[in-house]
Amino acid sequence: MIAINGGKPVRDSVIYYGFQWIDDNDVKAVSDVLKSNFITCGPQVAALEKRLCEYTGAKHAVVVSNGTAALHCACIAAGIGEGDEVITTPLTFAASANCALYCGGRPVFADVDMETYNIDPQSIREKITDKTRAVVAVDYTGQSVKIDEIRKICDEFGLYFIEDAAHSIGTTYKGKKIGSLADMTTFSFHPVKTITGGEGGAILTNDDELYRKLVLAHTHGIEKNESLMEDAPHEGMWYYEQLALGYNYRMTDFQAALINSQMNRLDFFVARRKEIVNKYNEAFKDIPELIIQKEIPESDSCRHLYVIRLDLDRLSCTRREFFDAMSAENVQCQVHYVPVYWFPYYRRLGYEKGLCINAEEIYKGIMSIPLYPKMSDDDVNDVIEAVSRIIAEYRK
Ligand SMILES: *Cc1c(COP(=O)(O)O)cnc(C)c1O
Repeated sequence: MIAINGGKPVRDSVIYYGFQWIDDNDVKAVSDVLKSNFITCGPQVAALEKRLCEYTGAKHAVVVSNGTAALHCACIAAGIGEGDEVITTPLTFAASANCALYCGGRPVFADVDMETYNIDPQSIREKITDKTRAVVAVDYTGQSVKIDEIRKICDEFGLYFIEDAAHSIGTTYKGKKIGSLADMTTFSFHPVKTITGGEGGAILTNDDELYRKLVLAHTHGIEKNESLMEDAPHEGMWYYEQLALGYNYRMTDFQAALINSQMNRLDFFVARRKEIVNKYNEAFKDIPELIIQKEIPESDSCRHLYVIRLDLDRLSCTRREFFDAMSAENVQCQVHYVPVYWFPYYRRLGYEKGLCINAEEIYKGIMSIPLYPKMSDDDVNDVIEAVSRIIAEYRK
């Protein structure tokens, strides 16, 4: 496909839907650790855990190797096992559902709200059985889920509320930072997320018992603190005990140093993301061919993704043609997400299309356009121009 304006794209260089912003301070923070004595299990990880608690107001944080490991640890701490059901959304990255499978559990997909695209509390309610143990609610694109409603359901049925906040560090719900509001909240520090360590993740909780299980889960189930051992007094300084089956999900100290350094700019990243989102909202609000994701008033969102949804009845192109036309303008979009249960692996587990009609309807028309703090105002205007040109070309 060629660009609309006689083959001349809106911009010469390609812009992607997400991109990290690493500055010289970040590079120095990493190289300082590489020259130090501890490149893993050192002070930077502990400092990051403390910092995440201070930032979010959570009592405990456990830093792990990635956001998927964070979700796995959360399911372990919640005691998910053979036959247990975990309710989540289909409009998410596969890890939000896979974490239940890792533990022998079964993901159950609740449908999403047609306006916010977030998991619908009413649909959660309808999917609860006597096997349900937890809800993994995803703050899709960075907008908080309806925390109070989900809390109420979880309390009523004795379920763990796990918030997959891979998209939503920096978001507040009713004035409180995401991170301290669910039983456990997980973050990801993948490069497209709001702050990065290359890879990285964290689980936050206010619960002392869950915290202890999370600590064991991410480092082999091994305990080195004598007061917490079962066979103490121990035999000598070399002694440690394995108390549970855990994994090696530790983060290196140089990754933690990078994230610590990125946290110095987190408030700025949040503000810049909001600024760009406002520009997009303003530019698109009067374009009837575009449906814009609505926000609940309780969520003051730091958006990780900006999703446009095409009203395909008003356009003479398919979503694929629109997407390819954006690529021809050198604006590289992405689609978040193919409903998880559509994947062949899930199909083989017995899931079928048609399970969540709202999520499937939303999926048909969405794409994520570039959103990251390092974008200049010119970049933002190029994206708006590309969208506008393509809409004008295919308007019915
Ligand atoms: C990125 C992401 C994850 C997984 O995080 P990784 O750090 O890539 O393992 C989980 N859930 C959602 C919603 C994500 O976007």
